Amino acid sequence: MQTLTGVGVCAGRVIGELVSMPEPVSEPAEGLTLRDEEPEAAVARLQEAAAAVKAELKRRAEAATEKDAADVLKSTALMAGDKALLKNAAKRITAKQLAPERALWEAATDYAEQMRSLGGYMAERAADIEDVRARLVSQLQGLPMPGIPQQDTPFVLTAEDLAPADTATLDPAKVLALVTSGGGPQSHTAILARNLGLPAIVAARGVADIADGTAVFVDGATGEIRTEPGAGEQELVDAWVRSAGARSAFDGRGVLSDGTEVPLLANVGTPEDARAAAAAGAQGVGLLRTEFCFLGRDKEPSVEEQVEQYTAILESFAGKKVVVRTLDAGADKPLPFLTDIAEPNPALGVRGYRTDRTVPGVLARQLEAIARAEEATDAQVWVMAPMIATTSEARDFAQMTAAAGLRVPGVMVETPSAAVTADQILRHVDFVSLGTNDLTQYTMAADRMLGSLAELNNPWQPAVLRMVQSTVEGARRAEAEGAGPRNVGVCGEAAADPALAVVLVGLGVHTLSMSPRGLSAVAAVLRSVDLGTAQSLAALAVEQASAEEAAAAVRAELPVLAELGL
Ligand code: PEP
Ligand code: MG
Repeated sequence: MQTLTGVGVCAGRVIGELVSMPEPVSEPAEGLTLRDEEPEAAVARLQEAAAAVKAELKRRAEAATEKDAADVLKSTALMAGDKALLKNAAKRITAKQLAPERALWEAATDYAEQMRSLGGYMAERAADIEDVRARLVSQLQGLPMPGIPQQDTPFVLTAEDLAPADTATLDPAKVLALVTSGGGPQSHTAILARNLGLPAIVAARGVADIADGTAVFVDGATGEIRTEPGAGEQELVDAWVRSAGARSAFDGRGVLSDGTEVPLLANVGTPEDARAAAAAGAQGVGLLRTEFCFLGRDKEPSVEEQVEQYTAILESFAGKKVVVRTLDAGADKPLPFLTDIAEPNPALGVRGYRTDRTVPGVLARQLEAIARAEEATDAQVWVMAPMIATTSEARDFAQMTAAAGLRVPGVMVETPSAAVTADQILRHVDFVSLGTNDLTQYTMAADRMLGSLAELNNPWQPAVLRMVQSTVEGARRAEAEGAGPRNVGVCGEAAADPALAVVLVGLGVHTLSMSPRGLSAVAAVLRSVDLGTAQSLAALAVEQASAEEAAAAVRAELPVLAELGL
């Protein structure tokens, strides 16, 4: 038996066969010409390949259980049979004697570039054309079709990392668990796994060396992958299934055993997310990532369109708190109308609130749209800015929100500078929300996307916990100086780790916001501890020498985790 350990990012135990994502298709050599094939035969082969890809995509669209995935597949199927694209490629075969894969590659690349130059909706189609290009070239070369592998029996999917386009078609009924060799615990692949409630492990070095078809046991809580699973592993899986009842019931109230209230909120990005979060019992929204409504757009959405989107989200939370975050573009979430993708070091670049300096006007218009959506609904809107580094930025943001008629301004604490100046910042704004994903990457100087730094990029790092402590102390100082009640929330992925959630509450955090899938497990563990215990566990964690030691020390004191399989 071989045991590998990565970083568990979504709890769950399964046994299944490993299937890896096919390698990305590479560009056929420039000038690759026909060898022993007549141009007519090559054109016919191209058309057959297109027909086969189209038929396969249609079959997958019909089998898809999710409407979004079916729509993506249907539009890709149409593109695979696009007459103009195939005609253009055929011309290159006959006129230049190019091999069909090279001809198709060139035709599709030109087509995608034209679409990009048109901008707007047309530009969004460029990625679809590139997707079709990869599928057709693979078909012509006799390679497996790119994207999530298809097979009848559910399997454990492994990959280096997943592209956003792959995630759209990932069917949780077919994929038992996700194991990546790259990606960090705060990467967007990890966030996606949590959204789907899919057991997942990232940064599992060595997983790429396990042969496809090998049976493995995966534990998304401990980050363990074991080959040759036996009766012991089967018992662990059975125990996980048996404890489902205790994990699944969230009654809509986050509370400690002594009655201390810890409101549990949801992180959402779209109106559908908001509906799902409300259905899961979320007590409000602690983070609305507005950039998720407009990813891939190369033009600023109009105020009207924004009002429509935000209203649709707020409607799910009438009478409840919804923390709307202004656009957080940059780094791994580029918005072409706000950010420069050619920055050499984008995580430290013009991102989040900083784009108000480079592209003024967008933020003011967004605040206007948020205010109009608030007026149209009964939700209690709080509004916050991402990537704040100075007190003056917080002060300026508060002025802008007031000018837009918004009543409750706040900022994210994602930089160490904001954590250590929280007392000053909270003289100007009413609340802060700790974005532990970025706060970890900036405190530890470790890129959140890099699997090789997963050990540093872990919110259990005592230094990160001290940043949380400093923020809470800052809020208490601001209150003591007469600033009024100051809410400190956590909306990073740390809040969804049930053991870490206890530590955060023990450090003095008031609210926790997470993917709705995480609510029930966090609620179940919080219900088992009182505030005094949470405080001593927080003190214990802060004193440890590493993230692993902090997690192990706290987990050892929380037997409820093992009972629930978390
Ligand atoms: C964070 O940094 O913790 C956060 C919640 O923001 P995002 O993950 O969207 O960067
Ligand atoms: Mg962030």
